[in-house]
Amino acid sequence: MAAELQSSNFDQEVIKSSTPVVVDFSAVWCGPCKMLAPVIDKLANAYEGKAKVFKMDVDNSRDIATKFGIRGVPTVIFFKGGAEKDRVVGLVPYEMLDKKLSAMIETPVPEAIKCPQCQSTQITSQEKGFSLGKAAAGGVLLGPVGLLGGVLGSKKINVVCLNCGHSWSPDAKE
Ligand SMILES: [Zn+2]
Repeated sequence: MAAELQSSNFDQEVIKSSTPVVVDFSAVWCGPCKMLAPVIDKLANAYEGKAKVFKMDVDNSRDIATKFGIRGVPTVIFFKGGAEKDRVVGLVPYEMLDKKLSAMIETPVPEAIKCPQCQSTQITSQEKGFSLGKAAAGGVLLGPVGLLGGVLGSKKINVVCLNCGHSWSPDAKE
């Protein structure tokens, strides 16, 4: 369930949040809001621990609704780092909210990319044909971790060991 948010704790829960926050601005008299409510609850459950999902009554929180220029309900706003990053107005499908929110969740940067089978660092990307390059002799890590993080930011990339042929997804637990 998505918790109810009040004006009094908006700053603490949304602006100062270290994780992405979704706020569903709605009203009790609004039909589409009632239909969106279970979708918002589903989103809250799916992202528990990764993002915070709230409902906010625009009639009880006129100040916040005005501050963010809410002209119609429901309006769903996505916050990250204390700032609005995205918003959708009206009744929208779960998939759209899920896609927007998942894009805001940061994928942990792998500390080292090694083949789990042979420990080789000579690996390449399978799906995009992007070569990650070869490690220097002695098995040092492949380049700056930040660079790898950029390459592996997409969860869909599989990497292949050039030594033994083993393929795996760096984000998946081996
Ligand atoms: Zn290998």
